[in-house]
Amino acid sequence: MCEGMAAARKRQEKEEAIDICEICLQDPCHPRCPNAGEPEGKHKCIKCGYGIMGDDEYLASPDGPVCLECLEDMDTRELIEICGEELQKA
Ligand SMILES: [Zn+2]
Ligand SMILES: [Zn+2]
Repeated sequence: MCEGMAAARKRQEKEEAIDICEICLQDPCHPRCPNAGEPEGKHKCIKCGYGIMGDDEYLASPDGPVCLECLEDMDTRELIEICGEELQKA
């Protein structure tokens, strides 16, 4: 390893030790960062814990709010179940 890299790594360790978040590399945390504090008066996704902000769309499921990103990750069966419905057999 060259000296420059070692110095850069040392500097990075120092920054992390202070207060830059190691996940989102921001201070304060990016709103989608799992380390971010819960935003006041907002909903929190029951799947990923994301704090749903003013302009974000979400599903108010019977179990609680689910963010759009989680909804997009779900398949049809999960979506039906999270809406409190179930598929019927003929
Ligand atoms: Zn963070
Ligand atoms: Zn979510």
